Amino acid sequence: MKMDADILIVGGGLNGPALALALASGGLRSVIIDAVPLATRRKPAFDGRAYALSLTTVRMLQVLGIWGAVQAEAQPMLDIKVSDGKPFEGASALHVHFDHNEIAEGPMGHMLEDRFLRRALLDAVKASKLITQIAPAAVAAQEILASHAEVTLADGRVLRGRVLVGCDGRRSGVAMRAGIARTGHDYHQSGLVCAVRHEKPHNGVAYQQFMPSGPLAILPLKGDRSAIVWTETTTRAALIAAMPDREFMAELRPRFGDFLGKIKLVGKRFSYPLNLTVANELTQARLALVGDAAHGIHYLAGQGLNLGLRDVAALAEVLLDAARRGEDIGNPLVLARYGRWRGVDTATLTASTDLINKLFSNDNPLLRAGRVAGLGVVNAIPSARRGFIREAAGLTGDLPRLLRGLAI
Ligand SMILES: Cc1cc2nc3c(=O)[nH]c(=O)nc-3n(C[C@H](O)[C@H](O)[C@H](O)COP(=O)(O)OP(=O)(O)OC[C@H]3O[C@@H](n4cnc5c(N)ncnc54)[C@H](O)[C@@H]3O)c2cc1C
Repeated sequence: MKMDADILIVGGGLNGPALALALASGGLRSVIIDAVPLATRRKPAFDGRAYALSLTTVRMLQVLGIWGAVQAEAQPMLDIKVSDGKPFEGASALHVHFDHNEIAEGPMGHMLEDRFLRRALLDAVKASKLITQIAPAAVAAQEILASHAEVTLADGRVLRGRVLVGCDGRRSGVAMRAGIARTGHDYHQSGLVCAVRHEKPHNGVAYQQFMPSGPLAILPLKGDRSAIVWTETTTRAALIAAMPDREFMAELRPRFGDFLGKIKLVGKRFSYPLNLTVANELTQARLALVGDAAHGIHYLAGQGLNLGLRDVAALAEVLLDAARRGEDIGNPLVLARYGRWRGVDTATLTASTDLINKLFSNDNPLLRAGRVAGLGVVNAIPSARRGFIREAAGLTGDLPRLLRGLAI
């Protein structure tokens, strides 16, 4: 039977295009289907999102030929300072300072605005002879057969491939149609996201302040600008989001502090509800889940996209190795290798972000004293500091070849 591609990818956000490019680098053909028109996904407006790309994610983007197109817009993240704080009181005097000079590999990562990464990925996809994009096109149905997977689009077209991959986000229809249940809960928090310009340079330092209602991240962008990801309880976030810019900034300033001089809002503000949603299975016969479709986590660790790109690197390696050995790439045993590889990492990061949020997002005086003491202990032990730095840089665990900077 004639196939439209080796792999059918539903979802052309960030992980879908990255997966198609990784597969193409080894000679496998993909079709990417997305409900949103290409021009809308490629539009240059800042949507408030900026990613802390870990060092190993950057290596992968270099191998895939994407990094050259975005490097000029990326801000190296040299240090991270973590503290416990309270509005109007500022950060606690005791904080942990993670300095990239403590590891040999260089900056822990780079901050990059979503719009630059998205455009670079979509341009590379367009230039590839092995990738076809179908958009706008919504998926209406899917069927897994003995020899292939079939996807029916809302306009009646039917596409066939050896494997179907769901890169279709936190409410993955691919997972739902396959009967894969999800585990998770609502954090009853929302992320208020914006960017500010400040008087003093940030010197490549990222700040994470744990406030009673949730963490406040101040992340360095190119120029004297920082991205703000400010977590508040859902009710308070809704009130703050509804405020005019002047009142919003009056709320933000006492939390932000004055260490970067005067701050000014640049661009629009956004608000995103926060929940945890993890698929109970990563694979079935001829089917795999990648990125937010597999695991949507809290933004506090800034690891959502890094985790997704680790999935991409692992799945591409498993599929390409299987294809080279002459195996059927849709065989459940082949895909289970990907599930085993990514399962532990996903579970660890999901559980740790969940625990950190529970421990830090409250004003309990006992827990607060414990937190401050804990930060002091980590700060005083070089090996503990280096462990965290290696974790943030993505250097730990069984890394797929792309994340080690090697072609697949
Ligand atoms: C404010 C904010 C800040 C963040 N900060 C960070 C950070 O600092 N670091 C980090 O690593 N991560 C961060 N994240 C998380 C990161 O944005 C996500 O992990 C990442 O965008 C997920 O990409 P994805 O491709 O898996 O899914 P998505 O980006 O959700 O893409 C899914 C795609 O599937 C398409 N689709 C869905 N259903 C269908 C259908 N039925 N038919 C066709 N197409 C369909 C959609 O149109 C969409 O294009 C942040 C997220 C937010 C919101």
